[in-house]
Amino acid sequence: MFNPRRVIFEEDALNYDKGKELFERFKKENVEIKYSKNGRITGIPGKSSTEMYEEGKNTLVVGVRKKLYFQSCKPSAHYQLPLVSGCMGMCEYCYLNTQMGKKPYIKIHVNVDEILEKAGEYIEERKPDITIFEGAATSDPIPVEEYTGALKQAIEYFGQNDKSLFRFVTKFTDVDSLLDANHNGRTTIRFSLNINEIIKMYEHKAEDFQSRIAAAKKVSDAGYPIGFIIAPVFLIDDYKEKYYEMLKYIKAVIDNENLMFEVISHRFTKRAKDNILSIFPNTKLPMKEELRKFKFGQFGYGKYMYTTDELKEYKDFFTESISELWSKENINYII
Ligand code: SF4
Repeated sequence: MFNPRRVIFEEDALNYDKGKELFERFKKENVEIKYSKNGRITGIPGKSSTEMYEEGKNTLVVGVRKKLYFQSCKPSAHYQLPLVSGCMGMCEYCYLNTQMGKKPYIKIHVNVDEILEKAGEYIEERKPDITIFEGAATSDPIPVEEYTGALKQAIEYFGQNDKSLFRFVTKFTDVDSLLDANHNGRTTIRFSLNINEIIKMYEHKAEDFQSRIAAAKKVSDAGYPIGFIIAPVFLIDDYKEKYYEMLKYIKAVIDNENLMFEVISHRFTKRAKDNILSIFPNTKLPMKEELRKFKFGQFGYGKYMYTTDELKEYKDFFTESISELWSKENINYII
């Protein structure tokens, strides 16, 4: 759970019951409180990139989602559901690092009812087709769920609408409040995993894989469809043994034949590398361009991938291992 160092309230948020409740809560907990007018977030300290990043990651903004337009979320869903933005985690390779600005604060919204009402309009527009919403496109929503209850509200909202599906992904484990939600099997919860050696080195503030698998077991037992994203996979010397151990651990803990796997090898862009080096100047992330294959990307900038031979061996390994422990049908993709 996220325990912010400071909370910034947008003025309008205090007109909502949820905003008032959170204000009282943080005041009682003696958390530093600031205010924002006109949606401008100021007052987060920090001089160097590292400090600004660290202070941003310790700041919670309580606001009102005014723009009710939802971004598209291809190819995995139709729309992003804007419940939360940002994440308390400090993973060095986070995909959000290039998107959230120099002070990447976490923002929650107090007008969840309005957001879900808007989702309802999108569902109506696409009928009779099903509309899929992604709840973690720009965040990890679990660590702030205790404050908002927004995920549970969304899960129950989509649970009652047979023309919608909901999904989100997390690296965190505070799932207890979701276990009794009326999900009707319409929300898929995916857990992002890695081997502990990699978590310790790069996923600061996130929990070890055993804890994430324990949380996954809870939601699986509560009837949610679940999946795992194993990412980013680093082809270190003994990666096969280590990732195989982790897969075997999942198999031993979770009795569910319908688990779905997405497996993603490590890759980086020049822009992401520069960004990571400015925040984590001593990072040990393997980002030597000369050891990678350059692949042109869809949006004009390319990625540095592992070489063709390395990727083939890696794909064979994960295909065989997942097929042996579950089946080939449990693999969504391996890239
Ligand atoms: Fe980014 Fe996910 Fe890590 Fe949060 S937990 S910092 S969203 S990679």
